[in-house]
Amino acid sequence: MPKKTKLVNSKGIRTDGRKIDELRPVKLEVGILSNADGSAYIEQGKNKILAAVYGPGEVHPRHLALPDRALLRCRYHMAPFSVQERKSPAPSRREVELSKVIREALQPAIFLERFPRTSIELFIEVLQADGGTRCAGVTVASLALADAGIPMRDLVVACAAGKADGHIVVDLNDIEDKEGEADVPVAYMPNFDAVSLLQMDGILTIEEFEQAISLALDGCRKIYALQKEALKAKYQAIKEEVEGAEEE
Ligand code: ADP
Repeated sequence: MPKKTKLVNSKGIRTDGRKIDELRPVKLEVGILSNADGSAYIEQGKNKILAAVYGPGEVHPRHLALPDRALLRCRYHMAPFSVQERKSPAPSRREVELSKVIREALQPAIFLERFPRTSIELFIEVLQADGGTRCAGVTVASLALADAGIPMRDLVVACAAGKADGHIVVDLNDIEDKEGEADVPVAYMPNFDAVSLLQMDGILTIEEFEQAISLALDGCRKIYALQKEALKAKYQAIKEEVEGAEEE
């Protein structure tokens, strides 16, 4: 058996210097690609993820079109250079699963019924991965959808909590994800107090599970505030540009 890393030290500090209830630094940017209808970028710790949206537009092949709502398509993909050992660029079983769970986490927030017979395509490209990419993927994708002007009931935000060295910790990094005892990713729509994704890997007691959910939801609320700031920052920049042009 390989020697196990100490994930939380005697002072309650984790391998990356965080406390057990501390998120990794999150940086969000909206509208960074000019050729997509909507886009956003997230850095969460060492994770670097780009999301781009096309649509609503024509569905190809046409027989996939839905008569009463838009078809939401989602591709989560990890770049070959996103992990330490080169990953094959071909979609893995894991990426197919993550594409599905991310789509299902976002779907309830979108007014799909307003765009029958169209498709909304969402691309999530993981450029660098360090644990929790499905959650960061949901967070950045919902910003890209908002940037594309797609009407939504709420932003969707996601954060994981789990267990490392017997402690319930929030926002697990790669080593905590791999060597920890459990991982519970949660996607959440804060305005509705509704959870749209809940998974669990590992074993927790009911009390630990409740503690993990509570920490994950706290994390979601903190990231939600940053999402709203990032959206406002884009429109603030446009406003300043327009006002600047009017003055000239
Ligand atoms: P999530 O990224 O949502 O936590 P997983 O639990 O499946 O999803 O993966 C945890 C972490 O494992 C990823 O964030 C990434 O850092 C790492 N990982 C995933 N796939 C690979 C791979 N093919 N090679 C090396 N590391 C990987």
